Amino acid sequence: MSIGTSKYTFFETVGHNFDKASKFTTFDAGILEQIKSCNSVYRMKFPVRTGEKLDKIEVIEAYRVQHSHHKAPCKGGIRFSPDVNQDEVMALAALMTYKCAIVNVPFGGGKGGIKVDTRKYTELELERITRRYAAELVKKNFIGPGIDVPAPDYGSGEREMGWIADTYLAMKSGDVDGLGCVTGKPIAQGGVRGRREATGLGVFYGIRELCRQKSVMDKMGLSTGVEGKTVVVQGLGNVGYHSAKFFREGGAKVIAIAEYEGAITNPDGLNEEEVFAHRKATGSILNFPGATNLARSSDALELACDILVPAALENVITEENASRIQAKIIAEAANGPVTVEADDILNKKNIVIVPDIYLNAGGVTVSYFEWLKNLSHVRYGRMEKRFTENMNTQIVKQIEELSGKTMSETEKSTILHGPDEVDLIYSGLEETMISSLHDLLNTMEEHPEIDSMRTAAFVLAIKKVGVSYKELGIFP
Ligand code: NAD
Repeated sequence: MSIGTSKYTFFETVGHNFDKASKFTTFDAGILEQIKSCNSVYRMKFPVRTGEKLDKIEVIEAYRVQHSHHKAPCKGGIRFSPDVNQDEVMALAALMTYKCAIVNVPFGGGKGGIKVDTRKYTELELERITRRYAAELVKKNFIGPGIDVPAPDYGSGEREMGWIADTYLAMKSGDVDGLGCVTGKPIAQGGVRGRREATGLGVFYGIRELCRQKSVMDKMGLSTGVEGKTVVVQGLGNVGYHSAKFFREGGAKVIAIAEYEGAITNPDGLNEEEVFAHRKATGSILNFPGATNLARSSDALELACDILVPAALENVITEENASRIQAKIIAEAANGPVTVEADDILNKKNIVIVPDIYLNAGGVTVSYFEWLKNLSHVRYGRMEKRFTENMNTQIVKQIEELSGKTMSETEKSTILHGPDEVDLIYSGLEETMISSLHDLLNTMEEHPEIDSMRTAAFVLAIKKVGVSYKELGIFP
């Protein structure tokens, strides 16, 4: 079954990219087959009462897929969308395996999906659907801090993760690590500061580091640095909104934003917060003051720009529109936005595609930090904040005494500041995205025959997962 305008399904697309990369590794065919295979698929159907008086019964279709058990727990978001299907969830779970390996997050890949159009349900109905889904996972042992840990994805957020945590804890009372059964939770329910914006911030850190590489920028005829670069963002949800925010704050210019209902452009730059408020107030992104409406939402993808950020869904850049893409860099914030056929066309055009399995790993990286927080039962920074501030106070005092000069209050407060939770999370995320980008660039240097950053990312991931399987010694 093909999807959109590709002859490959989404899962086949991931498999195709895997096969291309596996040639650059030396594992035996059996290990490669095990890495590529999807280990467990749980497809469920469950009834939920809906309607104003809860007098209707609807049967909901949903999935949880565990792609790889080479590390425990499995990890991956839950998508709420009417287009959810088994192939899609399997593909997304596979991407999670490779993503976690690339950024050294010690999890196997997983993913969930609930086939619903969230816009057609009230909050109460969505809560009933989410809680029932969580209960189904508990019943089949498909969720738990050491088993499988969901997170938000398209169509879900902190609210849904809060319902899942609460349902799990109600059914597993006494599980002292129970809050670690899901990440992306509200702060008051064991969430971590910085998780909400983590994927978009990771996209920014990754592209900013790429833009610092003179050799890469020279090839595209671009100057180094993100400052002044033009950016187009598709999707103003969690990932798109935060990507746009950090690019704007980093000195880039977001010249177009596309949503479901249409797209707008302004060569002087758009402020994502104002666009978001306008959409909330009017119900549409269109007719934003000072901006021009585009005829079709997808036209935004074809605008001339330095960085194109697809942050909505898969298969949006296809054989049909790839030749018209004018961006120099495609920053895959969404999972699978480029089809296999489009990938070939874009590579021939020397457009640099920064692949999803690296670039949107900021979400799972900070989810890992949240999980660690839940298992350690202590907020990041709690132990060291005061200690650091006291030490820094002593250092400043010594410097002032030795130099005979007094620092201004602003200078002092910058130096004295001990780390809060969010400082440590941002720092861990920044380090992860920067060092993983260099791992990718080094892989490309080691294998000059590799034609794309995507293939390099798969090579890196396969090598790491393959070594884990070998070390596990699970093959009789
Ligand atoms: P979201 O539901 O918060 O936002 C998605 C937005 O895209 C919505 O506003 C939706 O209206 C819009 N959209 C849908 N179809 C569109 C189209 N054809 N054109 C323009 N806009 C469209 O979802 P999200 O969490 O931001 O996820 C977006 C993508 O990022 C998905 O591919 C997801 O798998 C991936 N991702 C998300 C996370 C995360 O932490 N949330 C982590 C890694 C990857």
